[in-house]
Amino acid sequence: MKTYSVQLQAQEQLAEGTSAFHFTKPAGFEFIAGQALDLILGEQGDADSEWDVRHTFSIVAAPHENELVIATRMRDSRFKQRLKELPVGTQVQVEGPFGELTLDKDLTRAAVFIAGGIGITPFMSMLRDAAQQQRQQDLLLLYSNRRPEDSAFLSELQQLSQNNPRFKLIATMTKMEGSTQEWSGITGYLNAQRIQEYCQELSRPIYYISGPPMLVEAMHDLLDEAGVDADDVLSEGFLGY
Ligand SMILES: Cc1cc2nc3c(=O)[nH]c(=O)nc-3n(C[C@H](O)[C@H](O)[C@H](O)COP(=O)(O)OP(=O)(O)OC[C@H]3O[C@@H](n4cnc5c(N)ncnc54)[C@H](O)[C@@H]3O)c2cc1C
Repeated sequence: MKTYSVQLQAQEQLAEGTSAFHFTKPAGFEFIAGQALDLILGEQGDADSEWDVRHTFSIVAAPHENELVIATRMRDSRFKQRLKELPVGTQVQVEGPFGELTLDKDLTRAAVFIAGGIGITPFMSMLRDAAQQQRQQDLLLLYSNRRPEDSAFLSELQQLSQNNPRFKLIATMTKMEGSTQEWSGITGYLNAQRIQEYCQELSRPIYYISGPPMLVEAMHDLLDEAGVDADDVLSEGFLGY
């Protein structure tokens, strides 16, 4: 895998406690929507572990875009502190791309994306790519968050689904009692019955799950309960959450 030098262009708040970081895209950095990279912030000093200077992130930007973007929940870890305090214009390293969570080439099969919270990141790249390519495929996103305040990219996703009759967005909120925003969509956790209902008209779907490992595991169990063949499920657990 190659290491590239990139420059921080901007930091942007996407949702409560969630930020995106925009970097220049180096020449020769080719990737497939859904892949990830390692972001390396400086050298590992005596007091640091590798974890303090290197984290893996899915690439939010689509391959046709001329920047590299990652998005993350901001926490108090040493890595995230460094990231937050990184001045615009700083050069850092990225290594990659890598990862197998990419769309199947068979357009006759529907793609069902299941994202918990920040697990939306690889799907943003895939959905932006699908829009740009005018991909002729049924796409369904089941996106679960606690509250609208926590939901990154929600308005962009609503816009993408309005522009593409073959892309359906189902966003659910699981903790609306803690929200001050209005929400007219569905609430509560995804369950096997809901998944069966949303997917019943789709042709031979392939399921893609992304998010914290506990969510990924729970969704595997739900899909199993819903009668989905394990061979039709691809997933990526965001180790470290
Ligand atoms: C393929 C892939 C894609 C990912 N994409 C994203 C993304 O798009 N956005 C995003 O926010 N995150 C993503 N992640 C997760 C990301 O790499 C971080 O793990 C996450 O952001 C938590 O970082 P933190 O600094 O907040 O965690 P910390 O608070 O430092 O640690 C969280 C937990 O991880 C444990 N931990 C400590 N050291 C290690 C170690 N060396 N390896 C593993 N766990 C350790 C800690 O004990 C703690 O329990 C992805 C992970 C993978 C593998």
